[in-house]
Amino acid sequence: MAYIKINRDKFYHNLNQLALKAGGLERLAVVLKDNAYGHGLEIIAKLSSEYGIQEAVVVTLSEAMSIKEYFSHILLLHATPFEDSKFSFAITSLEALRGCNPKAKIELKVDTGMHRNGISMDELKEAIDIIKSRKLNLIGVMTHFRSADVTSSELAWQIYNFKRVKESFTKFKNIRYHSHNSSALLRSSSFDEDIARVGISIYGYNELPPIHHTPTLLPIIELWAKRSSTRVVKKAQMVGYGGDFTAPSDMVVSTYDLGYGDGWMRGDSKSPYKTVDGLEILGRVSMDFISLTSDRNEICIMNNAQVVAKQFGTISYEITTLLSSELERVVI
Ligand SMILES: *Cc1c(COP(=O)(O)O)cnc(C)c1O
Repeated sequence: MAYIKINRDKFYHNLNQLALKAGGLERLAVVLKDNAYGHGLEIIAKLSSEYGIQEAVVVTLSEAMSIKEYFSHILLLHATPFEDSKFSFAITSLEALRGCNPKAKIELKVDTGMHRNGISMDELKEAIDIIKSRKLNLIGVMTHFRSADVTSSELAWQIYNFKRVKESFTKFKNIRYHSHNSSALLRSSSFDEDIARVGISIYGYNELPPIHHTPTLLPIIELWAKRSSTRVVKKAQMVGYGGDFTAPSDMVVSTYDLGYGDGWMRGDSKSPYKTVDGLEILGRVSMDFISLTSDRNEICIMNNAQVVAKQFGTISYEITTLLSSELERVVI
């Protein structure tokens, strides 16, 4: 079976760099949604906790339940609030505020410009009225940036809006504020919020354009495939579905056990992906197999999702998140 290696030292290097930016390890909330961006939810939760991280962010209740033992606090972005000593719940609409359990810890998500989730700044007064009259257990106020990874004034504009939001809550006690994702934290020069919600950066990717002076992060994932069979393909014979690859000469070709069924991109066989060692994928990617000119037992298919993302016209996030949870993960 194809499998994934997770590099512990590189992961800790990233957490350390981010903690330096944030002003302390206790200010990092690791974002572990979607199987920890495909890296493996429980593995990354355990490694984070062993390093001393106390806070995590997930989307669903089932994600939160499976990592509860590792953290002192978990923020759920999309779940129905209930009373729990460790969980807090993002609230993203007035409707949700009106219906929510008063004992549940909630964090109000305010829309400061992304227009995806969150109550609008015009609704703030009403939201505060509901929180007060229903005696809701508000512990945090948060927002999310739409363009933190783009060099423009948009981030500053949203930070300014969030500053105004914070001013509406000065009468509340013990509220924590958070807005920064990876790119915003990496760009910041004087981070001063309670936590930063760091996702892609902990896995080793910096999505900012190179003009920003940022710490070096190290991708922690390697994807390996195993050889299932080997043959000699004669000159002019064709390999795989549609016969998209024609052998220019007699060559040794092996089939390796990775395909789009495992979450590897099928791509376009006319511009083949090259493995870490420069081996071109021959012809089309099948559901469970690819063909390479090699007879080695194991091949490292990729060790940097950003490189893969360039090839397939997408972003590092999608490349790792697509990787099947069925693939075995080992920590090295
Ligand atoms: C996914 C997510 C993050 C993490 O973003 P990265 O760019 O991966 O650091 C932070 N906050 C919210 C609300 C998110 O949904």
